[in-house]
Amino acid sequence: MAEIPLQQHFAPSGEQMTVRDLASCPPPGKWDDWVEYDAKAWPRKVEKHYSIIPTICFNCEAACGLLAYIDKQTGRVKKFEGNPYHPGSRGRNCAKGPATINQVDDPERILYPLKRVGKRGEGKWERTTWEEVLDTFATKIRAAIVEGRRDEVMYHVGRPGHDGYMERVLGAWGVDGHNSHTNVCSSSARFGYQVWCGADRPSPDHANARFILLISSHLETGHYFNPQAQRIIEGKMKGAKLAVMDPRLSNTASMADYWLPTWPGSEAAVLLAMTRIILVEKLYNREYMRRWVNWQEYLMAEHPGEPQTFDRFIELLIDLYAEYTPTFASQESGLSEETIVDIARQIGHAGTAFAAHTWRAATAGNLGGWQVSRALWFLSVLTGSIGTPGGTALNTWNKFVPAPFIKPGPSEVWNELLFPPEYPLSNYEMSILLPYFLREGRGKLAAYFTRVYNPVWTNPDGTAWIEALTNEQQIELHAALTPVWSETAWYADYVLPMGVGSERHDLMSQETHAARWIGFRQPVLRVYKERNGEPVTHTYQANPGEVWEEDEFWIELSWRIDPDGSLGIRKYFESPYRPGQKLAIEEYYRWIFENSVPALPEAAAQENLSPLEYMRKYGSFEIPQEKAAVYPLNERELKPVDLDGAQIDEKTGKITRNGTTVGVMIDDKAHEGFPTLSRKLEFYSATMQEWGWPEYAIPGYIRSHVHRANINHEQGEYLLIPTFRLPTLIHTRSGNAKWLYEISNANPVWIHPTDAERIGVQTGDLLRITTEIGYYVNRAWITDGIHPGVVACSHHLGRWRLETGQGTDRWSSALVSLGRDQEGTWHMRHLEGTQPFESADPDSSRIFWREGGVHQNLTFPVHPDPISGMHCWHQKVTVEPAHPEDGYGDVYVDTSKAYKVYQDWLAMTRPQTQRPDDLRRPLWMIRPYRPAASAFKRQ
Ligand code: SF4
Repeated sequence: MAEIPLQQHFAPSGEQMTVRDLASCPPPGKWDDWVEYDAKAWPRKVEKHYSIIPTICFNCEAACGLLAYIDKQTGRVKKFEGNPYHPGSRGRNCAKGPATINQVDDPERILYPLKRVGKRGEGKWERTTWEEVLDTFATKIRAAIVEGRRDEVMYHVGRPGHDGYMERVLGAWGVDGHNSHTNVCSSSARFGYQVWCGADRPSPDHANARFILLISSHLETGHYFNPQAQRIIEGKMKGAKLAVMDPRLSNTASMADYWLPTWPGSEAAVLLAMTRIILVEKLYNREYMRRWVNWQEYLMAEHPGEPQTFDRFIELLIDLYAEYTPTFASQESGLSEETIVDIARQIGHAGTAFAAHTWRAATAGNLGGWQVSRALWFLSVLTGSIGTPGGTALNTWNKFVPAPFIKPGPSEVWNELLFPPEYPLSNYEMSILLPYFLREGRGKLAAYFTRVYNPVWTNPDGTAWIEALTNEQQIELHAALTPVWSETAWYADYVLPMGVGSERHDLMSQETHAARWIGFRQPVLRVYKERNGEPVTHTYQANPGEVWEEDEFWIELSWRIDPDGSLGIRKYFESPYRPGQKLAIEEYYRWIFENSVPALPEAAAQENLSPLEYMRKYGSFEIPQEKAAVYPLNERELKPVDLDGAQIDEKTGKITRNGTTVGVMIDDKAHEGFPTLSRKLEFYSATMQEWGWPEYAIPGYIRSHVHRANINHEQGEYLLIPTFRLPTLIHTRSGNAKWLYEISNANPVWIHPTDAERIGVQTGDLLRITTEIGYYVNRAWITDGIHPGVVACSHHLGRWRLETGQGTDRWSSALVSLGRDQEGTWHMRHLEGTQPFESADPDSSRIFWREGGVHQNLTFPVHPDPISGMHCWHQKVTVEPAHPEDGYGDVYVDTSKAYKVYQDWLAMTRPQTQRPDDLRRPLWMIRPYRPAASAFKRQ
């Protein structure tokens, strides 16, 4: 079949944007009336007419493009397919994208706002009105703001699905109330990257790489996995070699040239051994390191008596890492010495075309996991492959977040429930500790929103969350904003139905490859009505039932918090086109497209469209590279005007102006550099030194809490990996997607055959897995695809509900009993597994899967890393055959033990409360929803 070139303005990055075999993809010129034959009418040729509207998938963070096919006869969405004009996904989606249609049609979906009428968690609800909801929350939030309790309003989000919108809302309210799921996900990986280069995510250019090293399962579930997976395969097809470090034979590892099943937590030891080989064998990029690493700062701080030369720095480096021999790395990891040496050499030879990525995986599992991403980035530094074709860039070089029409200033508040003094370096909110902080009386919440977030089920020690959520002194008012029932929504005061991915507006951009693009999620039925000349003022008018979109909810709520503008909030929610009038959501995006996206107005004008019409039509836009360069931005030279009044430090080359670092001198030229304190890549972190961790001022290896030496197999001990994802499920939002549960409906415990023999179990037998605070009972799956001594259980399954006809979707959940005894122990037992049920969807009576998986996270205590704050998911467990009284899905938890483990890990921190500068944390580091500099100062 001939290749079909897409129009040039969709492919300014020069990527391979000719798409094979997409002849069946309708060209945009036919999207208003696309004709297909009705398959069910075959062999008759019955025409079906569709209106095709692009949107963005909301089933993971990758933001792939979707096309909604709206049946013109019924006015309903018939199906979702990939959008080949989307620069990130290029028409290819994973199973979760098309399954959006299940979420739209789910017969169990919540269609109206619900209000609790019994006690919290009792399961008694009545339908209420949006008016009542908005007035209740506006009154509560206004009182907190007026009375100076600005740390009592909290918005806790799992999957944001947008760029910048909530920053504006919470900024307008002047609260420090953004909470996230990041410290159960990625805060550790982010910390390792940030401490090197000032940005906290990598952006690999897999398609142009010669060697790719991945630490996690990117082809199936890693970060931005579908857009990255297709480029990894593209790179392989062009000859790149792929190595995957993963103790589990993931789909990614099975596609790799080298599967490196390291003992969990030993990854940094292996990476540092590779570092040493590259140094000793002189495979490093000398010129790049000389120019961009802060070696002068290191020598001045740690070796002032030594010659301050680059050559001496390299000699010292080799000495520093002398213990990281292949033998040592082999002992720690279980990999062969030959493999470690071979991979190191291949990385060295790949040079600037070495792409590397880690996310979650080892970084999220281990105490000190942030040293894994730090050691991985070290390899990128050594090879000079940062921001090069085939290398790995900073996410900020490839992600594009356009500015809105007015942005509130930073808040003056600091919320210690989110950023407590014990964790001055934590990269993100210490969200897993919120129940303990509330219990200890560190604060309370007047208004709490959970949004696409399910901490009862997702977080470690979920029963601590149940105890907090049912305590009306600790949390006075709680609304769950959600498209679907969840275990957490059950304990809310209000359950507020929000649109699924095709029922809302959002703007997203991700660092999927070496380009910058934006994707426009849009409510497709609203756009369809507008195409047909039907005016729509609010998205709920087009959505099913009374399902709102959040953008409009926040506008309405903010307006009611400050109806006369006296609090200074309302002005941010007034139209930029109609002064003094309430902002309409399409005006918000219209302004951004007209004013903040380079080259979009010109591209739209070429088609006689306004920028908003263009984005409504195509759903995405890639910014031409001449408007937004994507390769090494640190090399950008400063203009003479930037140097006006600037000072240059003679020793380090740092350029400062008005107290702010603006660049760095390299070989007598002023460069922009990296967003770090030194503007260079920080091999040596003065921040770690100054903030209480001098032993970690340089990249190193921290023995994990699950190091081999801590696990005694003869006593039945194993290392549990509880983090791996299944490619077909979404953390906590796929309960409403029947196709996905048809594919994946069990999470057995992976066990190596030698371990199974030692324990005396076979595939399908019940096991009891005992953690520090309790146990769960699940089935065994014997497989060679797991490192001996390690067991693994996907966290994706084990959804539960407490009543037959309500709660978490019946496609995915078991009916359970859950109770707490007086001593603080909790017991869960499956009463009935997943069952067929009668509904408007005949498929619900065809459910064939019964057990539905086991919820393991309830049995995990919190393990916050003392530096990054990341929950360290891996843990030592005992594994044994189930006891006679055990049943599939049983869970037992002792909350007093959980609290003790929390205290043990808290004791590992080094609070920085007595600093002469009174700072709560380093000013230069990233802080989400960053308040004003004054708030960083302890009062
Ligand atoms: S990778 Fe799959 S779930 Fe994620 S955005 Fe793309 S299609 Fe959706």
